[in-house]
Amino acid sequence: MATLRFQALAEVMKRRPKMVSLPSLKVSDYYGEMVFGKETMARYLSSEAYKAVNSAREKGAPIDRKVASSIASGMKAWAIEKGATHYTHWFQPLTDGTAEKHDGFIDFGDDGNIIEAFSGKLLAQQEPDASSFPSGGIRQTFEARGYTAWDVSSPAFVVGTTLCIPTVFISYTGEALDYKTPLLKALAAVDKAAVGVCQYFDKNVTKVHTNLGWEQEYFLIDTALYQARPDLVLTGRTLMGHSSSKDQQLDDHYFGSIPERVTQFMIELEIEAHKLGIPVKTRHNEVAPNQFELAPIFEEANLANDHNQLIMDVMKRVARHHKFEILFHEKPFAGINGSGKHNNWSMGTNTGVNLLGPGKNPKGNLQFLTFIANVMAAVYKNQDLLRASILSSTNSHRLGANEAPPAIISIFLGSQISATFQNLAEKITDQKMSPEEKTAIKLGIGRIPEILLDNTDRNRTSPFAFTGNRFEFRAVGSQANNAAAITALNAALSVQLKSFKKDVDALIEKGVKKDEAIFQMIKKLYLESKNIHFDGDGYSDEWVVEAEKRGLTNITSVPESLLKYLEPAAMKSLVKSGVMTEKELEARVEVELEKFTMKVQIEARVLGDLAINHIVPTAIRYQTLLIENVKGMRDIFSEAEFKSLTESRLELIKEISGNISSIKAKVHDMIEERKQCNIIEDATEKAFAYNEKVRPYLEDVRLHIDKLELIIDDEMWPLPKYRELLFTK
Ligand code: ADP
Ligand code: MG
Repeated sequence: MATLRFQALAEVMKRRPKMVSLPSLKVSDYYGEMVFGKETMARYLSSEAYKAVNSAREKGAPIDRKVASSIASGMKAWAIEKGATHYTHWFQPLTDGTAEKHDGFIDFGDDGNIIEAFSGKLLAQQEPDASSFPSGGIRQTFEARGYTAWDVSSPAFVVGTTLCIPTVFISYTGEALDYKTPLLKALAAVDKAAVGVCQYFDKNVTKVHTNLGWEQEYFLIDTALYQARPDLVLTGRTLMGHSSSKDQQLDDHYFGSIPERVTQFMIELEIEAHKLGIPVKTRHNEVAPNQFELAPIFEEANLANDHNQLIMDVMKRVARHHKFEILFHEKPFAGINGSGKHNNWSMGTNTGVNLLGPGKNPKGNLQFLTFIANVMAAVYKNQDLLRASILSSTNSHRLGANEAPPAIISIFLGSQISATFQNLAEKITDQKMSPEEKTAIKLGIGRIPEILLDNTDRNRTSPFAFTGNRFEFRAVGSQANNAAAITALNAALSVQLKSFKKDVDALIEKGVKKDEAIFQMIKKLYLESKNIHFDGDGYSDEWVVEAEKRGLTNITSVPESLLKYLEPAAMKSLVKSGVMTEKELEARVEVELEKFTMKVQIEARVLGDLAINHIVPTAIRYQTLLIENVKGMRDIFSEAEFKSLTESRLELIKEISGNISSIKAKVHDMIEERKQCNIIEDATEKAFAYNEKVRPYLEDVRLHIDKLELIIDDEMWPLPKYRELLFTK
């Protein structure tokens, strides 16, 4: 019988692109048709209900029960027209991905007949049995009640036959059990703090919103081949596999023409995304073979993140229509590029100004530099927090590897902005400035926009790069929920901006002119946090040495990094800003540590099983063939001829034996270590033990398997090889 691998390969040979029929309408005609957005609401809601939703969205005003009922009935009418039969509170628990429990609209009416029902109460709040979602011990299982509550700032939408209502997920005692709640708080904190600072420049600024444009990288693998790789199915990455003789050396995949099967997938995906109001815009090949990227036009961060969570689901579903599986894992294949999710991040005011983009005049530019300097300071003081927000068991394989930023957090500013800051630092003194000095400084600042326009300075090796009108946080993992990173960033910046304002106000109080006070504080922030600024090659070995000299931290251990969430610097940002309570933070760290432990545990189990049940038997079978062959040779050749002819075969038999023995011994030891680790009860200790004692075996065992893959008869090898996973189209 052919192995699953050959069956899969035979299936792949028969694949033809599944052609997608293009909609007859323009995108602007069907964009957002599955979303209960502003225009739709205006049509389906009473004007009272419509106003209530809008003021809840804009000002956070509460919606009363009666109005909620009226909104629910409008929403239901619309959803039923779109084919919905069920509704769900859609939320983002601390596991990966989103959660939903579907309930039918079906209900008994007053006289016992069947009706479609959806009340304001059901729209606003629900109590899913949440005991099986991670809570880090906040919610004991006997107190299993958590509740979901409608996030009015993100519109409801219909997927398939279900009306989805974006919600937060909170424990009965009020602690956040999800990614969305702290994100919303962090966005509000930065809003408030940034408005305070903007007021120095423009009294009309009353609201600052955060923008997020994510770039989602992913791999596409044929379903049949994927199914023949239990490691991919169970862990999301290949735990073994010798590198393909050709992979990304020729750089021929990046921006190359997209294969037809993939194009058809992308077309269908875009149509689905646009119907859901997700403004996807860019699609291209990425560096590694079979790796691609999708990016939308940026949106307000909470909505953008909901859209990213939603699209990851849509992508998986649409991929299957085209017989593909999506890999969102940060490092599905050793030796070639992994996947990230660059977070393009900026802030805009109600007056239409991008605070991270150069202004139109010296005043606007001073505001711009103020924000850049504060971002710099926030990142400098919160390196460990930012790293903790992006590091996971899966993303740790990518960071520090050759193609990805190391686990050192630094900021790229580009030569122009760097020069401007340096110039300011030299010119600004604590003395009262003469009008000439001020003019000189302002003239210098005034030139920023022209300079930046020609500034094509791009640094792809920085984890946190300024790209002209935004920062790009590139260290975020491809399967992560962006909310963790954006929450950390915004919380840190909010605290930083507040302290900046306090310092500037104190100087003004002492009689220093406002603009001089701002100049002085920018200089101070720049000088204090200069060490975080690095425009060079972040992948180089020299940077690691240099960063250490500068006192920057470089942490690759996931548990160690997670614990930084609980250190004073991170607490200051997250707790002081009101984004999380200490209890929530502790719970979150516990959940993340447990997630880490479980992921390593699962990988170790899967690798052990595959090694012993798939690889060792295959190796023995091939070895037996060789032995039979050698025995037969003895029968037909003279002693001398036999010796010289079989020497290399005996070597091969020995080599196979050696690898088999090593695999068996190492898998045995790995299991023993796991048993020891499993006795440990404390989540932190256990994560450290798994990291130090169990995790190294994954590489050790793999090494021998990959050696066997190179010598064993290809026809016998049970698992699809890298070249097959990566190059079949
Ligand atoms: P690149 O790969 O060159 O970095 P892409 O076009 O792939 O750029 O993606 C850039 C992302 O950044 C897009 O989502 C885009 O909408 C977003 N973006 C552009 N300007 C801003 C901004 N001011 N704030 C936030 N995101 C932005
Ligand atoms: Mg980018």
